[in-house]
Amino acid sequence: MNTTELLSRFCGKNDIREYLNTPLRKGGYLYASNGHIAVRVVDEPAVEAFAVIALDGGTAIDKVVSGIEQMLADTYQPDAHRLADTNAAQMLAAAEPCEYCKGTGVTPKCERCNNTGLVTSLSSLDECPACGGNTDAPGTHCIACDGTGKDVMELRVSLGHAYYNPRYIALLAELPNATLYNAEPIDDPYYYVPGLVRFDGGLALVMPMIPPRGEVAA
Ligand SMILES: [Zn+2]
Ligand SMILES: [Zn+2]
Repeated sequence: MNTTELLSRFCGKNDIREYLNTPLRKGGYLYASNGHIAVRVVDEPAVEAFAVIALDGGTAIDKVVSGIEQMLADTYQPDAHRLADTNAAQMLAAAEPCEYCKGTGVTPKCERCNNTGLVTSLSSLDECPACGGNTDAPGTHCIACDGTGKDVMELRVSLGHAYYNPRYIALLAELPNATLYNAEPIDDPYYYVPGLVRFDGGLALVMPMIPPRGEVAA
């Protein structure tokens, strides 16, 4: 896997925040993030990336990169988990197909609203009940399953005290010697600190998830 391929796996896919759909370059590093997961590797000039310039420190792109830099500077407890030892990939493979896209991983054509997300009822315009108001074009990355084609909403990989999306853990597990370190648990059920992943050649951050239904956070 070359660096461009590696970064593209972690970029946003058709994200309305367009700056997330491409790798970012700042301060000797390359970054890629979709908002839930971020990766940083040492800069390679040959890689095409958007150069982030902190003109006023206030641009949305610079906030993304500065936020990642800040999180990487935080301390992590020695609660280490080798990602190659997790069952994330098997969990994904065994999951049921995504109901919305029928397992294709791409947005289906909505016969009810023609992908406008809206239907007319009496005198008002309402959210389309068939697709939940999704306005993504047919054939684009399915937002319900994040393009996996699997019903992944309730799936979690539990590592120490935190729960993670198996799709991201499987993705990170492909990086050489990837090891995840949980942040210290915090006493706030609405605030999550990302797990830090070290791998040969870089660092990554991945947001934890709420516990699966029926389980209470530890
Ligand atoms: Zn619809
Ligand atoms: Zn889907």
